[in-house]
Amino acid sequence: MNKFEKLGLSEELLKSINELGFEKPTPIQENIIPVILEGYDVIGQAQTGTGKTLAFSSILLTNLKERKKKPQAYILSPTRELTMQIHEELKKLGKYSSLRFACVYGGSGIEKQIKSIKKGVDIVVGTPGRMMDLMRRKVLQLDEVSYVVLDEADEMLNMGFTDSINAILADVPQERNTLLFSATMSPEIARISKKYLRDAK
Ligand code: AMP
Repeated sequence: MNKFEKLGLSEELLKSINELGFEKPTPIQENIIPVILEGYDVIGQAQTGTGKTLAFSSILLTNLKERKKKPQAYILSPTRELTMQIHEELKKLGKYSSLRFACVYGGSGIEKQIKSIKKGVDIVVGTPGRMMDLMRRKVLQLDEVSYVVLDEADEMLNMGFTDSINAILADVPQERNTLLFSATMSPEIARISKKYLRDAK
């Protein structure tokens, strides 16, 4: 049994991790995957390059078992570039999963994004502003979301997305898991964590 197998990830995911040539989990993957699989919320202090995207994607791909009519997970990220990177990594890791992924961001035509969401999507990755816009238009719905990931939360706050994050999280069901990743731990990050995470590790 290799170290990824010991973490409790799904067979499909282990197959794609193996194909990507990753031999062992990074420290953040080893530390947080078992905790989140147990059902805890998590605050992860992690820079880019630590393998945090695989860490949170693995949880979603293991715990969300089948397609549903409405989105089951939202990943909020500060920039278009990071949103696209996460989407690419999800597609690679989810190669053997039946789940559908979409990515939405500003500065690009909204109509194409609306079309892709209307086809059905399980995990949405996006910037908070565009997500809000799509929610207001009732294209994106929140009521069946069971996971919310806030990636680079400090950057999102620095970029002025606090109101959008508050508005999005206010409408997501209470019965959900929230995972927050941030390179720095400021008082504002502590405040958001206290407000939206439960029993966070
Ligand atoms: P991230 O910190 O999520 O931006 O990931 C940085 C890079 O590390 C990405 O290109 C990942 O595909 C890669 N990566 C993630 N997990 C592992 C691993 N366990 N072993 C080797 N590379 C990895």
